[in-house]
Amino acid sequence: MAQVSRRSMLLTGLALPGIAGSFYRNSSADNSSVTAKRFEEVAGFELADVVASHPLAILPLGSLEFHGPHNPLGADSIIISGISEQVAARTGGLLFPTIKFTQCPAHTAHFSGTISIRPEVMTMYFADVLRNILHIGFRKIFILNGHDGNIGPGRGAIAQVADEVNGAALLLASWWEFLPGELVKSLGMFHQANGGHGHGGPLETSAVAAFRPDLIHLDKARDLPEPPDLSGGTPYFLQKSTAVDWPGYSGKVSEASAEKGKKLVQISEDAIVKLIENWLQHDEVPGSW
Ligand SMILES: [Zn+2]
Repeated sequence: MAQVSRRSMLLTGLALPGIAGSFYRNSSADNSSVTAKRFEEVAGFELADVVASHPLAILPLGSLEFHGPHNPLGADSIIISGISEQVAARTGGLLFPTIKFTQCPAHTAHFSGTISIRPEVMTMYFADVLRNILHIGFRKIFILNGHDGNIGPGRGAIAQVADEVNGAALLLASWWEFLPGELVKSLGMFHQANGGHGHGGPLETSAVAAFRPDLIHLDKARDLPEPPDLSGGTPYFLQKSTAVDWPGYSGKVSEASAEKGKKLVQISEDAIVKLIENWLQHDEVPGSW
């Protein structure tokens, strides 16, 4: 009988989590077999080589926030982790863990299940994370955002650290902004004027379902009147202090489906990859344009 070494026994024992990992990868929106390199899996001895071979750091920003009775509290984190994994795999970026404890807007903060960190704390926290990623040796960081409350602190943090290190370049983008209302409307998926956008609405719920259909409970939420479309598609920022009589989500959620979500997430992912390619291609052009 062949002697079984301690290391091969260890590897055999480790095979199960590997199978579980590939199961979850296959359940992502994209069936791509390319996998992302993850920061938390890099061994200390190989860090310098990994930084040299993966010059782009990818940092996903999520949230823990009430998204209606039908969505998981980690809706934003699930979407952005899934997209970031594919983007990292396709661009060769090193994938950092998703930041999930973040700042939530006033209108969702009072819902049970929302965990909101003060915006000034988030700005300092993001800045420290970015500062440390730069300190490791990265000079290009792509911050891929899945939650509107991260935009202000994220931009504030970037403003703080961008000039602290020579040669640094930090790019921030939010996944849903690659799906403007007109584009989504042209797909005919959702029958609301803003193309299905809105907190916990049919578009966002579909995107969660693209990655984790097992966590969606459409039977727990009734359809709501579509949210008003104030600008006809141009982005705006509106905050209200309270959410009296608002159930914490919006729109005709019965129109949500994993199939629609997979298509939407794929459009966003492709556009994000294009953005990164364009960015890196024009990196030598002076200025931030
Ligand atoms: Zn959300």
